[in-house]
Amino acid sequence: MTERTVERILTGRPATDGAGVNMTRVIATPELDHFDPFLLLDEFRSDDANDYIAGFPDHPHRGFETVTYMLAGAMKHRDNQGNTGHLGPGSVQWMTAGRGIVHSEMPEQEDGLMWGFQLWVNLPSSDKMTEPRYQDIPASDVPKVQLGDGVAVKVITGELNGVSGPVSGVATDPLYLDVRIGGEGRASVPIPRGHNAFAYVYEGSITVGDAEAHDVSRGEIALLGDGDLVNIIAPRPARFLLVAGRPLGEPLARHGPFVMNTQDEIRQAVFDYQSGRF
Ligand code: MN
Repeated sequence: MTERTVERILTGRPATDGAGVNMTRVIATPELDHFDPFLLLDEFRSDDANDYIAGFPDHPHRGFETVTYMLAGAMKHRDNQGNTGHLGPGSVQWMTAGRGIVHSEMPEQEDGLMWGFQLWVNLPSSDKMTEPRYQDIPASDVPKVQLGDGVAVKVITGELNGVSGPVSGVATDPLYLDVRIGGEGRASVPIPRGHNAFAYVYEGSITVGDAEAHDVSRGEIALLGDGDLVNIIAPRPARFLLVAGRPLGEPLARHGPFVMNTQDEIRQAVFDYQSGRF
């Protein structure tokens, strides 16, 4: 069994998106354009409504998947095909945009804490024009695995110790874990070999690796080298996302909310959207 070690540590940077939502952008920055198959990672966390109240009014997506995972607060999702969904603390929406949807993601609160993540996961060329699909997962459907030593892991997708997450049928065969270390704790987590994997720390700080140890603090993302497992140690309470996916190794043509393989496909996406074909 080969241990995965840290190859790069990067810090998220402040960003504004939607109609004026202030957040931290972790992937899709000048330092880290993407991490195949992951195209973007945002953390939104604020108890000031001015940071989130504007929300994300109607906007399109084509060619990839958007994953929203909430820690606190409430959001409402609505799309142009009549689908609606409510996102509350601990819930997940895994949306396969495929050939295209137009949707809005708006806060359902006027004050209080709003905290969560949005991850964009690429689709292989063969799936970019697939039918849109939603997996709306309530918090109660996300299983929790105890890893001993006060480590609790929520399994959103992928498998840990024989427990599978509720999100299924995703092309890049991802692993999405939310890990909480309660005190002084230690976890050894298997990750499929060949997958690109990262840890994003959102509370406290952790040490990644035994043989070669790196400290990773709140707001930092650690990109891991290849291997079969990752060892994590925390001297104090810490929380982090551990995410992995099969890299696609395909050409990337990217224009805002459209992510395709070629510029021609981007032009087609813009044309289709502007002609109301989504
Ligand atoms: Mn969106």
